[in-house]
Amino acid sequence: MKETILGVQVNTENYDELIPKVFRNIEDKKKSLVVAINPEKLMKAKEDPGLKALLNRAEFQIPDGIGVIIASKLKKGSISSRITGIDMMDRIVREAARTGRAVFLYGAKPGVADKAAQQLKQTYPDLIVAGTQDGYESDTSKVLETINKAKPDILFVAMGSPKQEQWIEQHRDNLYPTLYQGVGGSFDVLAG
Ligand code: UDP
Repeated sequence: MKETILGVQVNTENYDELIPKVFRNIEDKKKSLVVAINPEKLMKAKEDPGLKALLNRAEFQIPDGIGVIIASKLKKGSISSRITGIDMMDRIVREAARTGRAVFLYGAKPGVADKAAQQLKQTYPDLIVAGTQDGYESDTSKVLETINKAKPDILFVAMGSPKQEQWIEQHRDNLYPTLYQGVGGSFDVLAG
């Protein structure tokens, strides 16, 4: 279910309801994009119709940011709990480890995605990390090839918003993964 906040669609489900839906799309081989919606993005989208359309085209928009919850309450909506981008990533990784789905980490400065991957493996020993790639390689076809050769089911892209979402939308038809999430500075946080 979705609700419209300032012209942007936002999912109303909590984690436990959302994760099975997200993974069902992987099973059905239906490509999907998860974007985190926070007040900052809503303000940017208000000024930028292209960004608003891009956010609305995503298959899943999670309510990241307390402002989104408050906006929903004010219009008697049903979004009751915050889902942050990094928590959603954690839930997706946990489910990926449980179900044998491989993940790929793309973005952040050289070495950071690797470190983040090591941290995730420590938390979820069964996790399959298909590969990592820093976010500063300018040869896009090389990046696409690296990701496609690794054959991950899930691609996390950490290049800041909306750059990461634009990149995903531009290239996902040519990419192997089924599930995509733009995760901003999450690799830096995970790497510590
Ligand atoms: N980044 C990148 N390539 C770029 C620009 C940025 O990989 O060309 C990375 C940067 O190193 C950092 C992340 O993108 O890890 C941006 O994090 P930020 O916290 O700014 O994103 P936000 O969560 O605010 O969208």
